[in-house]
Amino acid sequence: MTSRQILLVEDERPIREMVAFGLRRAGFEVVEAEDTRGARARIADRRPDLVLVDWMLPDMSGLELTRALKKDKDTRDVPVIMLTARAEEQDKVSGLEGGADDYITKPFSPRELLARINAVLRRSTSAVPGELVAAGALTLDTAGHRITVGEASVPLGPTEYRLLSFFMTHPERVYSRSQLLDRVWGGNVYVEERTVDVHIRRLRKALEGFDADRLIQTVRGAGYRFSTRPS
Ligand code: CA
Repeated sequence: MTSRQILLVEDERPIREMVAFGLRRAGFEVVEAEDTRGARARIADRRPDLVLVDWMLPDMSGLELTRALKKDKDTRDVPVIMLTARAEEQDKVSGLEGGADDYITKPFSPRELLARINAVLRRSTSAVPGELVAAGALTLDTAGHRITVGEASVPLGPTEYRLLSFFMTHPERVYSRSQLLDRVWGGNVYVEERTVDVHIRRLRKALEGFDADRLIQTVRGAGYRFSTRPS
């Protein structure tokens, strides 16, 4: 198996070198860029398995780069982790709403960073290949790693794909936020429960265009349920 490639976008050289060193030592192939222009050029050369992007960059913000990657069909499945010195909760939510799969605040330990990278990579790869699961108008194609309605693919980021796959294979049952974190996020201790709400919101938005957002039901005080019956 070839090693996974991580694109690291960070303009502060000492940080970039330190992070790249740690990732290479952990067995990743690391490609570096110091601004979003450089990042675009590296992505055009080869699609990375994951992008680590700093929020503050000289040309465009890391958040804008993340949004752009998530809009492009060629890159929207590439998981993105944002690095930032900004610890405010609102920034975190903006980062996640901008399409980031996770968020890490500087200073962080190499161990914490690796744990997050591994968790994000784990949940961006699908299980049981070849299986087709139908629920309502949706079809889950685990081999093709997509969810379709008729001929159309539902545009989903990696986390939303994992979340919807989980729901479709576990319908008609209520899951609490912490159960969803455990099952979908792989028990990553660094993810907070409100992260679930952010991804549920994104998932519903993606399903709206197919008139399928009502399949994801909020169960007050309990959590969420995927159901093909009216709530
Ligand atoms: Ca920076």
